[in-house]
Amino acid sequence: MPSIRPCLFLTAAICTLPALAQENVLNLYSARHYQTDEALYANFTRNTGIKINRIEGKEDELLERIKNEGANSPADVFITVDAARLAQADALGIFAPVKSRILEDRIPNNLRSPGWFAFSTRARVIIYNKDSINPSDVQKYEDLAGTKLKGKVCVRSGAHPYNLSLGSALIQHLGAQKTEEWANGLVANFARTPKGGDTDQIRAVAAGECGVSISNTYYIARLLRSAKPEDKKVMEKIGVVWPNQSTFGTHINISGGGMLKSAPHKEAAVKFLEYLSSDEAQAYFANGNNEWPVVKTAKVNNPALESLGTFKPDSLNIGILSKNTAQAQKIFDRAGWR
Ligand code: FE
Repeated sequence: MPSIRPCLFLTAAICTLPALAQENVLNLYSARHYQTDEALYANFTRNTGIKINRIEGKEDELLERIKNEGANSPADVFITVDAARLAQADALGIFAPVKSRILEDRIPNNLRSPGWFAFSTRARVIIYNKDSINPSDVQKYEDLAGTKLKGKVCVRSGAHPYNLSLGSALIQHLGAQKTEEWANGLVANFARTPKGGDTDQIRAVAAGECGVSISNTYYIARLLRSAKPEDKKVMEKIGVVWPNQSTFGTHINISGGGMLKSAPHKEAAVKFLEYLSSDEAQAYFANGNNEWPVVKTAKVNNPALESLGTFKPDSLNIGILSKNTAQAQKIFDRAGWR
């Protein structure tokens, strides 16, 4: 058996993957970029003897590659973050339906489709500056568009999938008309032109550059776990609100994946997906990247996540988010949320 080096970047010209079905390997195309995932994969190899060849890249690059490779693609499993992106991949017809009792038993109904499965969840929450904002004014996503917050909101680009998925959920719950009004109000409240990622928004809120923002929970947990004094200072300034607890619940998103139709190692692919739903793998998601397990019995040992407490998540079927993404993008464009 030839020894294959893991392919870490698409740009590495020397990186090749074997398409030999008889080999005890799994070819994983991953758009998740979390260092802590290394341990998750190493553990799978330890448990099963199946070696993982990993190709990491941007979502679009990987999808393009899968499309170009067609039936000859060596890819067995594709994993990514964000429900709308997963559904977009699904719409390209790249996933094979996976029938697995283990996956059906362990992953809740609203967090899977025939072609893909969610393995972890993250919530999109409101963060605020404790010195300048009264938390009772920011209990709902809708509040961010209210006139009370004029000049106080900063947020990353409206073109980012995290915000598009939030917009999709709002369209589902409030309707397109109200979501458009919301986007207009939000943009009218901007303290600055959208820039940076969620962590940049947290820092801007802490610095008082703005009063309130939206962030995925794992960015908050990451800062909470940081030993750096400057990060500790940031988090002292920040309050976190679980939005919409009295209505539809806090918007959640997922990371997940599925087996490709053309997978040369289908057995290994199903084993890997089942492994991702094991208590062990679920704990890696929770403790490594500060996401919540989708499997209820999985144990979390993550003080930062625990300190965030419990909340009512939006119970919307995650697959529905993608249905509204294009409309959300149009609404955000019209509102000028670039
Ligand atoms: Fe992220």
